[in-house]
Amino acid sequence: MQRSQPLVATRAAAVVVRGGVVVEVLGHAAGLRRVRAGAREVDCSAQWLTPGLVNAHAHLELSALAGQLEPGPNFAAWVRALIQVRGAWPRSGLARAKSKAFAQLSTSGTTAVVDIDSLGLGVQRASPTRLRVLWCREVLDAFDSSRTRAASARIERALQRRALCTEGVAPHASFTVSPELLAHVARIAVRRSLACTIHWSETEHELLWLERGLGPLAEVLGPSPKRSGLDLLAQAGLLGPRLILVHGNHPGAGEMERVAAARALLVHCPGSHAWFQRAPFPLARYLKAGVRVALGTDSLASNAELDMRREMALMRRSFAWLEPERVFSMATQIAGEAFLGPVPIGVLEPGARADIAAWNCPSAGARPFLDAVTACAGTARAGTMGVRTWLGGR
Ligand SMILES: [Zn+2]
Repeated sequence: MQRSQPLVATRAAAVVVRGGVVVEVLGHAAGLRRVRAGAREVDCSAQWLTPGLVNAHAHLELSALAGQLEPGPNFAAWVRALIQVRGAWPRSGLARAKSKAFAQLSTSGTTAVVDIDSLGLGVQRASPTRLRVLWCREVLDAFDSSRTRAASARIERALQRRALCTEGVAPHASFTVSPELLAHVARIAVRRSLACTIHWSETEHELLWLERGLGPLAEVLGPSPKRSGLDLLAQAGLLGPRLILVHGNHPGAGEMERVAAARALLVHCPGSHAWFQRAPFPLARYLKAGVRVALGTDSLASNAELDMRREMALMRRSFAWLEPERVFSMATQIAGEAFLGPVPIGVLEPGARADIAAWNCPSAGARPFLDAVTACAGTARAGTMGVRTWLGGR
């Protein structure tokens, strides 16, 4: 649920933290001298303070593929190229690139990421000590019943709880996960109260096949379910507040309202959207329908960078009518709702996780600061907008 007036950015002197949670945001330097049993103070004086950025959709396992695939609108050709290029990489190389990607995220002001893991690289080898991770094991069976049982078993085996890592499940996409596998994933998600994230309504080809059994996907997939992706999710019992839909470029009639009513989260990835030269994202209609829209980077196989500052800048460029505060909340508060824990992330207020970003920005007021931080692209980021992060106040 959206809070009434979240603290978006402040010139605070320090944040009092206990057990990784914000106790108080101190506005005056005198506050630094306070002594609090069991608490510590994060000294952020002379900097702009915000919640750390939250990347609501990434595939860090694809980071080794940076610069190796061509941008363009042919999604099927891109998928084929991705499978081929990724296949040429040893797992150790993919894992190393993934570790580097975690580091890049945290140096760009990000403190949390929803990471899709299709290869079972996990997070343990990547050591994301500077990031909070919603780790989502991905499965698919391409509507091939001979693959459904193995995919079901794989996701059961993969789920293990780890510190700083919340688990979720990631059925790959509406057109690559059969209703049987989706039902299995839904049972796991409900039983363990896990978030579920899925690529939804990304291309017109997937809609054509899902709903009518037509188009190029009809040649490679089995019989069409003749249902919309959202109907299949609802049928599996997944359409609810723990559902994180990614892309949503072609919502059908009434689907925006259904997503809003279910309080599902929708993730838009501006850099990836531009990579595939897609038609304008129907943002205004989603917001009017009351859908919560968060931002993500997607992967380096379809984006130039894993930097949420760039995603915000792309949003500002594509939707000039969007206020900086709203863009910033898409990359913090709203994206943070993907984590769905009892302690909120993506907000800077008492009771929230002390995942903090301190920005070295000369702006005198909150509006100019947010205007700068959501529009700072390219060299401006490195030159004038240094950022430091704390995770749980450390
Ligand atoms: Zn994706």
